[in-house]
Amino acid sequence: MIEFKDVEKIYPNGTQALKDINVTIEKGEFVAVIGLSGAGKSTFIRCINRMHDTTGGELFVDNINVGALKGSAIRRFRRKVGMIFQSFNLVNRTTVIKNVLVAFAPDNPFWRTFLGVYTKKQKLQALEALEQVGILDKAYTRVDQLSGGQQQRVALARTLAQKPDIILADEPVASLDPITSKRVMNDFTKINKDMNITILMNIHHVDMALEYADRIIGIRAGEVVFDGKASSVDDVV
Ligand code: ADP
Ligand code: ADP
Repeated sequence: MIEFKDVEKIYPNGTQALKDINVTIEKGEFVAVIGLSGAGKSTFIRCINRMHDTTGGELFVDNINVGALKGSAIRRFRRKVGMIFQSFNLVNRTTVIKNVLVAFAPDNPFWRTFLGVYTKKQKLQALEALEQVGILDKAYTRVDQLSGGQQQRVALARTLAQKPDIILADEPVASLDPITSKRVMNDFTKINKDMNITILMNIHHVDMALEYADRIIGIRAGEVVFDGKASSVDDVV
C-alpha cells in the first residue's frame, strides 16, 4: 500500500511541484496518472522510490516511512519498487540478458558486477523474466538490434527480475508508435493481473489510460484534481 499524507514537494529553485497530496493506493491496483506537461506527474511517482525527496508531509510504502530511509535501506527498498522510463535506460551495445542481469548488480559483491559474473540462479531468474514479457528468444541479441517495443520489454524484464511489489512507469509508451504502445500496455496489464504487482504509470494519452488502468488520478498544477475509477471518467476529462 502506498500512502501520501499531505505530501508537498518544493524544488530547491522554489518551484512547488506537489501540494497537499493525500492519496492511498492499494496493493494490486493499476493506476494511471494523467495531466498536462509540467503538472507534477513525474515528481509524484518519483517521490515514491525516493528519486526525489518530499519537502512536506509523509509518504509510506507498506508502512515504511520513505522519507526516513537512509543509505543501504534505500537500496533495499528500491528492490521492491521497480522503475520504468520513457527512454528505456538500457545499455545498447550489449545483449538483452546482460541488461536484465543488471537488476542483480546491487546485491552482488563489487567484483562480480565489475567482471560481469552472475550466479546461475540469477541467470535463470533473468531468463524467466524475459519469458514473462515474451522475448526469451532475444536473450542473446544486442539491444540496439531490437525495436522500441522490444527494448521497453527488456526494461520491463529487468524490473521483473528484481521481483518488485510495485512498478513505477514514467511515460513508458511515449516514444512508441500506437500499435507498439498497445502491446506494451497489454504487457503491463498482464503483469498487474497475473502477478498482482501494483502499477503506477504516468501517461499523457488519456485514451490509453482509460483503456488499460483501473483507476485514474488527475494532477493539475501539483494538486490532485480527479481520483476515481477509469469507468467513471467519461464526464470529467
Ligand atoms: P510532469 O511530469 O507532469 O510533466 P514534473 O513533475 O516533471 O511534471 O514537473 C512539475 C513541475 O516541477 C514543473 O513546473 C517543472 O518545471 C518543475 N520541476 C521538475 N523537476 C524540477 C527540478 N529538478 N528542479 C526544479 N523544478 C523542477
Ligand atoms: P563484454 O561483451 O566485453 O562483456 P559489454 O559491453 O557487453 O562487454 O558489458 C560490459 C560490462 O558492463 C559487463 O560486465 C556488463 O555486465 C556490464 N553492464 C551491462 N549493462 C550495464 C548497466 N546498465 N549498468 C552497469 N553495468 C552494465
